[in-house]
Amino acid sequence: MYCRKCGEQILDEAVICPKCGCETGIKNEKLPVLDADESKTGIGVLCEFFLGLIGLIIGLCLYKEGTVARQTFMKGWGITFGISIAFLVFFYILI
Ligand SMILES: [Zn+2]
Repeated sequence: MYCRKCGEQILDEAVICPKCGCETGIKNEKLPVLDADESKTGIGVLCEFFLGLIGLIIGLCLYKEGTVARQTFMKGWGITFGISIAFLVFFYILI
């Protein structure tokens, strides 16, 4: 295309004319892809959180209070849940 101010031939995707600096009228807008990814990550975090809670409730119902089995379960659950949350936070910051 040509600059509407100075008539210089410029690239079709150019936002500003390199010769006179005049705006070409093309808006170099980026697609809102990031927003979709963020909401997806948010849903993932929520799912992870609720699945973890469901797992905890099931585990607490299965094992009687004060038993070694329950203490072992709580330790295992805490480590697993902690690691998965850490991974989610890591990916959330990375993306
Ligand atoms: Zn120009």
